[in-house]
Amino acid sequence: MTDLAKLKEDLVTANRVLAYHHVVDSFGHVSMRNPENPNHFFLSRARAPNCVEVNDITEFTFGGDIVGHNPGKPYSERFIHGAIYEARPDVMAVVHNHSPNVVPFTVQSKKKMRPIMHMCAPIGNDIPTWDIAHKFGTTNLLVTSMEMGRDLAESLAHRTVALMRGHGSVVVGKSLREVVFTSVYMEINADMLIKAYQLGGDDILPMTDGEVSANAGGRAGFTFERGWENWCRLTDRPYYAEEWNMGPGFSKTDK
Ligand code: MN
Repeated sequence: MTDLAKLKEDLVTANRVLAYHHVVDSFGHVSMRNPENPNHFFLSRARAPNCVEVNDITEFTFGGDIVGHNPGKPYSERFIHGAIYEARPDVMAVVHNHSPNVVPFTVQSKKKMRPIMHMCAPIGNDIPTWDIAHKFGTTNLLVTSMEMGRDLAESLAHRTVALMRGHGSVVVGKSLREVVFTSVYMEINADMLIKAYQLGGDDILPMTDGEVSANAGGRAGFTFERGWENWCRLTDRPYYAEEWNMGPGFSKTDK
């Protein structure tokens, strides 16, 4: 099997894992940049993530046009992905979700989303909320054009996560494993954070900026492999092992 064929299988796995963890339900999606052509990306046709098969994987230009194999109707919100890949050459994978415990943080500003447990540090302490109405007025809240996608990408800027008011969020990563890891732990963090706010009100201790940086610096490829192998098992998907040392940003802490 070629590296690209394995990556497409991993993209199917990413869909299943996100569904397993309720980050996506029948809606929401995950994409990856084409490593052989960085101006294109791969995304399923419009289908519930838990049902996605490798034949559903479609190649797109940033502008959302299908290249080659066309298995059917594309996601109407594919512009989220293209606009982020266009703006962020460092991003190799993108998740768009309506993660249920995250949405409450998109519609109010009194209680902020903050990482409260070390596994959840990758979401960072600086999480913007993009409001589609600021530029586009009254809409159905869906991101259905490159103009909308670019406005969202501008709000995301250099960050890992941007919340979307009344909708969900976008999460980006340097690999599929990383973006799935961050998305799963953001949903878990949001669930725990709502409980912490219920118990303590404003009396909570989120991770400090220093702790978040220390965590990011020490995050090893091993961590992603450990999660990914387990998630492959849980979703009955093939596991294709990767090197623990996955290059810049993936320091190897286990000797
Ligand atoms: Mn959506």
